[in-house]
Amino acid sequence: MRRRLFWQLAATYLAVVILCTGTVGWYSISSAHSFYLKHTQTELLARARILQGLLPPTIGSWETAKLETLMRGLGAASGTRFTIINPKGHVLADSVHDPTTMQNHSDRPEVKAALAGHVGMATRTSPTLRVPETYVAIPFRQGSGPVLAVVRAAVPLTSVNEALHSLYWRIGISAGIIAVVSAALGFVVSRRISRRMREIKAGAERFASGDFGYKLDVSRTEEFAGVAESLNRMAGQLDEQIRTVTDQSNEREAILSSMVEGVLAVDTDERVITVNRAAVALLGVEAEQVQGRSIQEIVRNSELQRLIARSLTEHKQVEGELTLRTNGRDRYVQVSCAVLQGDDGQSIGAIAVLNDVSRLKALEGMRRDFVANVSHEIKTPVTSIKGFAETLLDGAKDEPAEAERFLRIIVGQSDRLNSIVEDLLSLSSVEQAADGGSVELQEGSLSDVVRVAVEVCDAKARAKGITITLDAPDAAYASINPPLLEQAVVNLVDNAIKYSPENSTVEVRLSVVAGEAIIEVTDHGSGISRDHLPHLFERFYRVDKARSRTLGGTGLGLAIVKHIAEAHNGSVSVQSTVGAGSVFAIRLPAPA
Ligand code: ADP
Repeated sequence: MRRRLFWQLAATYLAVVILCTGTVGWYSISSAHSFYLKHTQTELLARARILQGLLPPTIGSWETAKLETLMRGLGAASGTRFTIINPKGHVLADSVHDPTTMQNHSDRPEVKAALAGHVGMATRTSPTLRVPETYVAIPFRQGSGPVLAVVRAAVPLTSVNEALHSLYWRIGISAGIIAVVSAALGFVVSRRISRRMREIKAGAERFASGDFGYKLDVSRTEEFAGVAESLNRMAGQLDEQIRTVTDQSNEREAILSSMVEGVLAVDTDERVITVNRAAVALLGVEAEQVQGRSIQEIVRNSELQRLIARSLTEHKQVEGELTLRTNGRDRYVQVSCAVLQGDDGQSIGAIAVLNDVSRLKALEGMRRDFVANVSHEIKTPVTSIKGFAETLLDGAKDEPAEAERFLRIIVGQSDRLNSIVEDLLSLSSVEQAADGGSVELQEGSLSDVVRVAVEVCDAKARAKGITITLDAPDAAYASINPPLLEQAVVNLVDNAIKYSPENSTVEVRLSVVAGEAIIEVTDHGSGISRDHLPHLFERFYRVDKARSRTLGGTGLGLAIVKHIAEAHNGSVSVQSTVGAGSVFAIRLPAPA
């Protein structure tokens, strides 16, 4: 059981006080006792000597009555009991007692000593008077002659004891007062010490709970001041260290969360230590719920579990590719799992870096499709040219009418090949310029661009009996690349003419509304069915391949329009109703 410091201190203090006052009291009492006794004995010796001086040299010849009278007188006057004893131990006279009834005194120690020529002293209960007495006996002799008698003086110790008794009381009371005052002081000091200790304990508990802003009072007592200062210093250092650790952890958190790659760290039991924002998004989990949970619980993908487990068991980096389905979308992810090593080089888990390569995959697919499409597009005219050229060589050249027809076909196919290559080149140059950010945009007149585009298409429209109407305000400016934008508008107007019936109208309208310039090309042609609209701006996408080809289309016109609009930070859109016509619109940012 733990005892409180206060009670330990108080109990020790009380014990010390009792011991000290007891010792001092006992010592004082015994000193006083022996002092009184000594003093009394000195007094008795003096009185015995006085009596000795009054005795005649021929003591044996004195009448007992005379001796007794002298003794009683002296005894009463000095409050002393005097006794004269002869060398044989018989009492010759006694100031308070009848000598005839008294025993032989030769065996009394003080008498023995006096008979031997010394001063004898003794303290004992008198067998004659039955009270404690102190005795002093001296030899009575003439010169250095034999001892003629022994003169003994005695006083009862009751008076000494009474005197000492009151002294004992006073010493006892003083000691008691000292003990009480000291104990009270001790309690006060103990209380102060234990209160200070409690304050230090409370402070230390606040530090332990993380309240490092708290400061312990530095008291005037050196030891407590030392402890308080040390604790305050320790709290300061801890605060600083925790701050540093927190900063480092925040930095690490910031780095992890701003990483595009998903990062997932697990311990050796495959429990999640850290997961960053990208990984949370990829895995489709809740960030707060994954910490400390096992990888099997949170990741349903067995391939990822297998890669992490392999990295943990084989202690090496493993890589793999997997498909994660998040929010109904398949994501292609490259995973690289490495061993997490502690400071001592021991494996403490594994870290998986998830790289979402869906876009790359899609781009790769697009590139493959594009190459296939280009090859396919080019193959048709090349095969055709080769076929007709071979036919000519095989003899058709000798028949002028046939030869001319074949040569015209060859020229037509060459034109087609040419326009495919031209469209491809312009698409790739727009793309490259847009990707490299090198499309030069400058403040220019949109009206001029639209007007020139309409003029370029005018001849083709007229050949089909189509009227192009232009509705453009004069003052419409935007940040543009005029030749590129002109090409985009030409492509739209050209399509409108191509897919419109003869003698219809194509309307070109330019408007600037709320910081946006809109160029709309409306036709009243075949229109496009809803299913085709999402793919219309893809390369080589054609609603009706045969018709497009007959009309000299390459399937690249709208893709070029889209890229040019994007290079201008704008967009292109289409609205169409089958049988009623289509509206294509280019939207560009314009000064409000
Ligand atoms: P193309 O060279 O074949 O015209 P585009 O990329 O310009 O290629 O157009 C893609 C396809 O969109 C065309 O093949 C055509 O089917 C359809 N299309 C484009 N413009 C129109 C329009 N104004 N009316 C109807 N269909 C259109």
